[in-house]
Amino acid sequence: RADIAMFRAKELGGDNYKFYTHAMREQLGERVQMESALRQALERHEFVLYYQPQVDIGSGRIVGMEALIRWQHPEMGMVAPGRFIPVAEETGMILQMGAWVLRSACQQLRTWQCEGRRHLRVAVNVSARQMAERDFVGSVADVLTEAGLSPDCLELELTESLVMNDVEHAIAVMHQLKKLGVKLAIDDFGTGYSSLAHLKRFTVDVLKIDQAFVRDLTVDPDDAAIVTTIIALAANLNLEVISEGVETLDQLSFLREHGCYQMQGYYFSRPVPATVFGAVLDENEARLAAGERVPLGVA
Ligand code: C2E
Ligand code: MG
Ligand code: MG
Ligand code: MG
Repeated sequence: RADIAMFRAKELGGDNYKFYTHAMREQLGERVQMESALRQALERHEFVLYYQPQVDIGSGRIVGMEALIRWQHPEMGMVAPGRFIPVAEETGMILQMGAWVLRSACQQLRTWQCEGRRHLRVAVNVSARQMAERDFVGSVADVLTEAGLSPDCLELELTESLVMNDVEHAIAVMHQLKKLGVKLAIDDFGTGYSSLAHLKRFTVDVLKIDQAFVRDLTVDPDDAAIVTTIIALAANLNLEVISEGVETLDQLSFLREHGCYQMQGYYFSRPVPATVFGAVLDENEARLAAGERVPLGVA
C-alpha cells in the first residue's frame, strides 16, 4: 500500500512528490507502529472495559451500563478509544477487538446478574466492520449462549454512518438481531447522515441523543430545539430515548421536563472499571433505599 501511495505521489510530480512522500512516510510510520502495538496489546491483554451507568430518572435506578474500551499501555498509560479505534477499524483489527469487547461485557453482566443484580442490561458499541462480517449475528448468539445471558439484556449501539455504509445489508442484519431478541440503539443520533426514511426501516429500539446537542442545551436555543425534536420523534415512533453527556442538573431537568427519562453522563458517573462499578451500583441502591430519587454518582 505504501508503494502504491508513493507511486501516485510520484505521478503528481515535483514538489508534490516531496511533500506527499514526507507526510505519508510519517503517517505510515505511525500507522504501522500503532498497528503492531495494537496487535501486541491484544496478545498481552492490555485492553480493559470501563462501564458507565445508564440511569432511569423516573425511578432513580441504574438500569444498565455502556461498556467502553480502554487501552492500558505499559508506557503510555490509559489510552482513550478515540486514539486507537480508527486505526483498529482501518486495519480490520476491530473484528478481534470487538469480539473481545462483546464477550467480556456479556460475561461481566452475567457475573453481576449472578450476584443478584438481575435488572441490568449492557450496551456494547459495534463498528461497521463487525456488522459487515459474514456471521456477525451468529457470533452474537454464540456469545449470549456462552455467557448464559438472555438476549434482551444486550443492547448493541450502532451509528448512523455504520448503517449508511451499506443500508440494505445493515437493515437485513438489524432484522436478524431483532429476531434474536437483542436491543438495538442508534448511537450519536442526529450527527450522522441517515434520513428519516431510513430510520423508518431500521428495527431499532432506542435513539441515543449525542452529547454534542446536550452540551449547550440550556443556553443554545437551537440545541434545545434539536433535543426536544429528537425526544418527540422517538415518542412518535414508539422508540426509547436516552441522552448521553449529561453533566449538570440543569441539563437533567431540561431533559426530564421534555420527556427524556434515560440518561448517561458525568453527572451520574464517569466510566469506571468493573470493580468500581459494583460500588456505584451499591451506592445507587443505598440512595434509593434512603428515598433519594436522583442519584449522584462518583463523578
Ligand atoms: P460513544 O459510544 O458515543 O461513547 C460515549 C463517550 O462519551 C465515551 O467516551 C464516554 O466516556 C463519554 N462521556 C460519557 N459521559 C460524558 C459526559 O458527561 N461528558 C463528556 N464530555 N463525555 C462523556 P470514550 O469512552 O472516550 O469513547 C469514545 C468513543 O469510542 C465512543 O463514543 C465509541 O464510539 C468508541 N468506543 C468506545 N468503546 C468502544 C468499543 O468497545 N467498540 C467500538 N467499536 N467503539 C468504541
Ligand atoms: Mg456508544
Ligand atoms: Mg454516543
Ligand atoms: Mg458520542
